[in-house]
Amino acid sequence: MVFEVLTIFPAIIEAYLSESIMRRAVERGALRVDVYNIRDFTTDRHRQVDDYPYGGGAGMVLKPEPVFNAIEHIERDGLERRRVLLTPGGRVFSQSIAEEYARQERRILLIAGRYEGIDERIRTVTDEELSIGDYVLTGGELPALVIIDAVTRLLPGVLGDSRSAEEESFTTGLLDHPHYTRPVEFRGMRVPEVLLGGNHRLIRRWRRREALRRTLRQRPDLLDKADLSEEDQELLEEIKEEEE
Ligand code: SAM
Repeated sequence: MVFEVLTIFPAIIEAYLSESIMRRAVERGALRVDVYNIRDFTTDRHRQVDDYPYGGGAGMVLKPEPVFNAIEHIERDGLERRRVLLTPGGRVFSQSIAEEYARQERRILLIAGRYEGIDERIRTVTDEELSIGDYVLTGGELPALVIIDAVTRLLPGVLGDSRSAEEESFTTGLLDHPHYTRPVEFRGMRVPEVLLGGNHRLIRRWRRREALRRTLRQRPDLLDKADLSEEDQELLEEIKEEEE
């Protein structure tokens, strides 16, 4: 998977990608991230990427010329890519969009805005607008990294054990079940006995039950959309009785 990021702060992107799983994904060739500094595509002496808003008002606006120049430069290769504008007004990014990208896309261009926003004409050269949530950040670099990270960990061979991604929150339609590691007892809190017994059928059932319980408590809205089996429905009824 190739991501291309247009930003005025390339170092933010590069710093995150130089550590941990993202670094290993790059080393293994599963991920490539080409970062382009929008400032390199300015044509004036001051390399200015922002300007005052027409009509007045607070803040500066990211100029269209360097962004158009950068896209035209990148697209000289003639390759297909999905151009994504990062903006708080976009479709809200989710695990299912990450799965769709990991499955269908080979090359994604992410445009990170800054300042009060971008010149409206930049919208005309994008395929899609994505937000990472209903809040406003100072720039699109964190949203770009959120998307790169969430997609990359779904690519084959990136996580040591592919079951890690398959069993997680949202992938199954539910939140994840609780996890424990050593010691068995910590400050009076014991690991549930079922996890120590080695009976895989009982462990699977306990995990499913606790995933249902956590979802019911913390994100009951997910249960309406989740694909629940008859056994799940029974477990859910039991949990509801226990919780009352
Ligand atoms: N005035 C804009 C608005 O109200 O929609 C916010 C601009 S924000 C300060 C600057 C840049 O940060 C945006 O152009 C966008 O690229 C990025 N950004 C901020 N919050 C974001 C979010 N929740 N999702 C995606 N991008 C975001």
